Amino acid sequence: MIDIHCHILPGIDDGAVTEADSIAMARAAVQEGIHTIIATPHHNNGKYDNTKDSIIKSVEVLSELLVNEDIPLTLLPGQEIRINGDMIDDIDKGELLSLNHTKYMFVEFPASSVPRYAKQMLFDLQVSGYTPVIVHPERNSELIQNPAKLYEFVRKGALTQITAASFVGKFGKNIQKFTKQIVDANLTHFIASDAHNTATRGFCMNEAYQELRSEFGNDLFYMFMENCQLLADNQNVNKMEPSMIRKKKFMGLF
Ligand code: FE
Repeated sequence: MIDIHCHILPGIDDGAVTEADSIAMARAAVQEGIHTIIATPHHNNGKYDNTKDSIIKSVEVLSELLVNEDIPLTLLPGQEIRINGDMIDDIDKGELLSLNHTKYMFVEFPASSVPRYAKQMLFDLQVSGYTPVIVHPERNSELIQNPAKLYEFVRKGALTQITAASFVGKFGKNIQKFTKQIVDANLTHFIASDAHNTATRGFCMNEAYQELRSEFGNDLFYMFMENCQLLADNQNVNKMEPSMIRKKKFMGLF
């Protein structure tokens, strides 16, 4: 398995604090059957700034540590970028980092809203040669309220990544339900851990893939697995025709 979203780099965001934490996360990942992780620290989210060069350096340092510790895990550089109006400028300034230097770039919305300029920015990124991957749409309260927005973004070429823990219910029943609706409507293309530690925000990848397989079948299971490899290799990923999530009409009597 490849995990394309993980806060495993030590001391630079709200993920691993120390190198020992990173090592513990790496061991947990290998135990789950993960052989490659794209390290995606937060950037520009109001709390943490981690620019391209510093992330690449940090990946090098931790990779060496993994070799020394005999942990068979490959680390690749990435970044979880909070959407903002300066993204194109920041690309030009060399501050932004796509996933493993591919055309795929993580875009994070604020937890409770979708900025008005999001549609334009997702378009501008594509004009600049990047394919935006919206991270954890299932945890955004505006998208939960208005899933048609997510459909529009996907229809216009954005990809999305859901969180393994959301799929198995670790963020509650409502988010789990919405996550499965997103899968069912072909509005997502990747499952990743977004792991921050080994205790409260672990990997859950095995559990999520097993549950996906039993609920949605083998084809979708293999499609999701393959997509993470295709992304890491900068190949085009599998997509299916997206559809709208229909909110159940309120049938009860008032
Ligand atoms: Fe994250």
